[in-house]
Parts: sequence; structure tokens; C-alpha cells
Amino acid sequence: MQQLSVRHLLGIKDLTLEDISLIFETADNFKEVINRPIKKVPSLRDITIANIFFENSTRTRLSFELAEKRLSADVVNFSSSNSSVKKGETLLDTVNNILAMKVDMVVMRHASPGAPHFLSRHIKANIVNAGDGTHEHPTQALLDTFSIREKLGEVKGKKVAIIGDIMHSRVALSNIFALQKLGAEVMLCGPKTLIPRHIGELGVKIELDVKKALQWCDVANVLRIQLERQHIKYFPSLREYSLYYGINKNLLDQLDKKIVIMHPGPINRGVELSSDAADSEHSIIMNQVENGVAIRMAVLYLLAGTKLQEE
Ligand code: ASP
Repeated sequence: MQQLSVRHLLGIKDLTLEDISLIFETADNFKEVINRPIKKVPSLRDITIANIFFENSTRTRLSFELAEKRLSADVVNFSSSNSSVKKGETLLDTVNNILAMKVDMVVMRHASPGAPHFLSRHIKANIVNAGDGTHEHPTQALLDTFSIREKLGEVKGKKVAIIGDIMHSRVALSNIFALQKLGAEVMLCGPKTLIPRHIGELGVKIELDVKKALQWCDVANVLRIQLERQHIKYFPSLREYSLYYGINKNLLDQLDKKIVIMHPGPINRGVELSSDAADSEHSIIMNQVENGVAIRMAVLYLLAGTKLQEE
């Protein structure tokens, strides 16, 4: 069996191009599986996976859980809102207690950047980062680039504009790394206050005018304004943001080409994306969600393989 070069999926930054290609090829097979009448395979029977979510999530959590169940893993779910974290337990204690119950893999979302990296140095289980604060969200970037590959044939040479709240988005950073590794050109677009000052050093283009960004790109990946992480005002009002940066069907119709619209969800309809754009023939948002399950099945399956080989 081909192997990943990593034992944990902490970020796209640590993956090689070969790792990403292997994940895509494995996801192609799993996508075929989940479209069959019987969607389940026994690949992870006897593996126990804990989904540990210290932050809210709908899609990512459900998607991981479905992926695990379709691989026949045993699944336990934990969310911090009704746990002993509220009583003052540390992250390491919480996770060690869960692992004492013989858990093989941990899927974790945490508000602090680096939390899964910290855990990976202290526990034996394979760890999958399901989003660490404003840092990385690797499975999102894998499913995004997989969806571009599916829609446009390949990612290499494509022009992708990431539009919105770059500063507070983990999706942005993971997408930049994944797109660049796969040979795409990346542009970031948003109000100057939401673009980190030195991010151009990663080799991305910066554009403040959304119309120019749309004119340049083949794919627009539109991000939500992450109000929950903004402690000061970065723009006067959501109405003004929407006026200058909101993408609607009218803007898309003015282009002299068809571009692909993506969004990691949850969409704030009428703010960064209007309903007529989100639900238009340009949009592959629902394909992203479908592909998320196949990508997560591939990641879990391949990481479980690294563990089995080592023991
Ligand atoms: N669902 C994505 C995330 O967890 C994007 C978002 O929340 O806007 O980062």
C-alpha cells in the first residue's frame, strides 16, 4: 500500500505533492463507493476514532462522522460545550482520558492555532486537524482543490481568487498552500484591513477590487466574514462590505467568461454571496460538501495505514 509521508494531518504545509495526489486518488475510489446503494466498506473495522470539537461546526463534524461510519470505524463524539473542559480540565488531560479508553485516531477542532500540533507531540494516536483557530483547515483545502480538479480537469495552471476575510480564515491559508503545491496561481482579494500585511511573501497576488479579481480568475473561493474572531471593527458595516465585496449574479454576468464559485460554508447569504450567485450554475458549493466525505475517508484510511505499518 502506498503511504503518506506524515502520521498526522496537521496542515497542508507538511504535505508533499505526492501525498496530495495519493489522497486524491484514494478519494476518487471512495467517491465511487459512497455513490453505490451500499455505501459502506470494512476498511477501518476495529479502529476507534474520537471527534473532539472545542469549537462549533456543522459540515466538518458531520462529514468526518459520516466518513468514519462509511469506513466502519467505531466513533465517539465529544464537544466542549457539555464537557469537563468547562470545569477547568486541560486539553492534554481531556485527550489523555479519551485515549485511555483505547482510541486510535483523534479528529480535533480547537480555537487555538497549534493545538493539534501540541497534542501530536504528546499522544500516540493519529491526529487530524479539523481547524485550529485562524491557522489551518487541511481537509477543507483538500476537498476544495479536489473539487476544482473534478470541475476543471486539473488544478495546475488555474487562477484561483480567494475573496473575503483572509485575516481570520484558516481556509485561506490551507488553500494557499494546497493550490500552490498543485501549481495554481493564487490571488487574495478583500478590504485592506482583512488582508494580513506580509501575506504577499507567500507568493500570492493581492487585489483590493473584487471586479478585477473576478475578471482575472477561473475560480473564486468566497469566504465568510468571521465576525466571531473580530474584536475590532475592520470595516464600517456588513452592508458596506456587501456593497463593495459581495458577489452576486449581476457581477458574474458582466464577466466575459464563466468562472467557478466556491464557498466553504456556512454562507452568510446576502453578505459575501447573494443567493442568485450561490445557487447559480457557476456554483460548485454542494459538490464541495459531497467531496468532503470522500476526501475525509481517504485521509483517515491513509493515516490508519501509517499507524498499522509502524506497529
Ligand atoms: N467552515 C469553515 C471553517 O471552519 C469556514 C467558516 O467557518 O467560515 O473555518
